[in-house]
Amino acid sequence: KSVIETVNLQKKYVTDTVETTALAGVNIQVGKGEFVAIMGPSGCGKSTLLNMLGMLDAPTAGSLKFMGTEIASATERHRANLRKENLGFIFQSFNLIDELTVHENVELPLFYQGLPKNEIKQRVDAALERVGIAHRRNHFPQQLSGGQQQRVAIARAVVGRPSLILADEPTGNLDSQHGREVMTLLSELNEDGATIVMVTHSPSDAEYAHRIINLLDGQVITERIHATSAALA
Ligand code: ADP
Ligand code: ADP
Repeated sequence: KSVIETVNLQKKYVTDTVETTALAGVNIQVGKGEFVAIMGPSGCGKSTLLNMLGMLDAPTAGSLKFMGTEIASATERHRANLRKENLGFIFQSFNLIDELTVHENVELPLFYQGLPKNEIKQRVDAALERVGIAHRRNHFPQQLSGGQQQRVAIARAVVGRPSLILADEPTGNLDSQHGREVMTLLSELNEDGATIVMVTHSPSDAEYAHRIINLLDGQVITERIHATSAALA
């Protein structure tokens, strides 16, 4: 069963004088439980594709189905609701709220779900344990290292048990040691059932994925199943 299915997905940006085709007909499918990496040179459309999958922006043409529901033509409000209920985001720059503690940052997505207080606390505690940052629960983001901040952001992304996790260059601001730790954590979450789509420039990060989709000039040029993960699967 597909979490994501796009057919001839297109996105054009129009500014005063220039029209840029960022996505020129992309066909991809992401199944439940998959870990997919999207790669390609700067300007090839990776961020645009991730913005479409993340329902942050609407395509110009084509079909984008999320869990079987067509959302290419959905209203901004419908997209926002789907996003809050179904997606977890991980960013290169962590995007934590500096004024909130670790615990409070991770709690945020659950407020949208209207869960009882004790369940919220249990879920946040479990997520913080899961990423190994429970001992820093009352710290503020600026009191943590980059690797620790990304762990908090990952806890925030998974705490709502989203159908899909979208990661944009998750190790881009980390040294290689912390980068590997973050990738190991993402692969463990995937083994536990999380579906992940990750944009990356890093070939070594992409090795953690099951499948690598290469974009060039807004189109998929190659797709390859990662040999090691395929062998393990
Ligand atoms: P990547 O993430 O692979 O670097 P992007 O998706 O950011 O690629 O960009 C794809 C193309 O679309 C580029 O030519 C870029 O300049 C253009 N583009 C991206 N976002 C916008 C925008 N908001 N307005 C105009 N052009 C854009
Ligand atoms: P990344 O390095 O993650 O690929 P970029 O630096 O290409 O991101 O773009 C950052 C953001 O700026 C994107 O989300 C995109 O929407 C916007 N953007 C990129 N290119 C352009 C452009 N030519 N004009 C306007 N906005 C752009």
